[in-house]
Amino acid sequence: MSFSTFVTDKAGLQKMYEAIISKHETYAPVEKFGKYDYKKVSSLKECDPDSPIAETMSVKPLFFPRSSKIMKYEATSAGTSILETDQDPLTAQRVVLGVKHCDARGLQVLEAVNKWDYIDSDFLKRRENTVIFSARCDKAGTHCFCTSLDYDLENLDALDIAVVNGAEGKIYLQTRTERGETFLKEKLEKSTMYNVQSTNDESEMKKQYVAFAASFRLKMDYKDINEKMAKRFDSPAFEEASRNCVSCNTCAFICPTCHCFKISDEKIKDTGVRYKSYDSCNNVYFTLEAGGHNPRPAKYRRWRQRSMHKFVYYKERFGVNLCVGCGHCAISCPVNISIFDVVNHIASTPVGS
Ligand code: SF4
Ligand code: SF4
Repeated sequence: MSFSTFVTDKAGLQKMYEAIISKHETYAPVEKFGKYDYKKVSSLKECDPDSPIAETMSVKPLFFPRSSKIMKYEATSAGTSILETDQDPLTAQRVVLGVKHCDARGLQVLEAVNKWDYIDSDFLKRRENTVIFSARCDKAGTHCFCTSLDYDLENLDALDIAVVNGAEGKIYLQTRTERGETFLKEKLEKSTMYNVQSTNDESEMKKQYVAFAASFRLKMDYKDINEKMAKRFDSPAFEEASRNCVSCNTCAFICPTCHCFKISDEKIKDTGVRYKSYDSCNNVYFTLEAGGHNPRPAKYRRWRQRSMHKFVYYKERFGVNLCVGCGHCAISCPVNISIFDVVNHIASTPVGS
């Protein structure tokens, strides 16, 4: 299937977004207390698809909820019965506006593990039924390093329709998947209100990308990091790197690619609720075994696991890094630890020191 590029302007794009919101279940970044989180919206006025990267939380919870109820049950001396189970509500198509490119890539990275040994059909169904409009940033944030990682940000197919700002108020819409192509063509066929024209001239998009790529403060050679980290499992530098960590797990909870979870039961008298909630390998109990042994009792071992999983193990198993360079872990860490700094520092130490 061939993919299309269209050009419009801000007014045309806004009309299209309004039409989408009125016809489809639509989610977009909504501001609350200075942060943007993806919420269901009923009007464009409620949200900002151009929300700033540093203040925008990941779209991941729309696909892998932070905490979801698996079932409610009754357990008495007579036996256990299930009172209700959560039905996945996502049977119809939905649209998400304003997803950052790195964040969309995070969903693509997660797909690999979600269709590996255990098939998470809820995650896969949610992605299958979602059309992602992705707003490419114009400028890198202080902690961003997405252009340094193992994906082609300029031609990313983790999103369905890329929205890119051009010169003189032009806005480009480029389909990147079959789902995006079908969705956008149908929208455009039904209305002439969006001031949209087809174009083959993608030079403005290229210029925007070149300026964007030049705006990065942080750059890394991920292949070099992969190779060097793989040889530094025993590096004492992990101890120093994790010294200030308070094991709050914030870095994992806000990360677009972290996917550890726990199953917990909350029971009052005979009635219980079972939840699936985010967890983190930074939690001291995460690897605690029933017999009392914990292979990662020390902070440095847990931080080693976090960085090795992201830059060595996941890459070995699935061919991609478990990090998309969004920088959110560094932005949110209460003690200012940055994964970019940690892996660059560990990689720079001599083997065995
Ligand atoms: S590890 Fe940090 S920079 Fe990498 S994807 Fe997760 S939050 Fe973003
Ligand atoms: S956010 Fe910072 S302090 Fe909290 S677990 Fe992560 S590295 Fe440690």
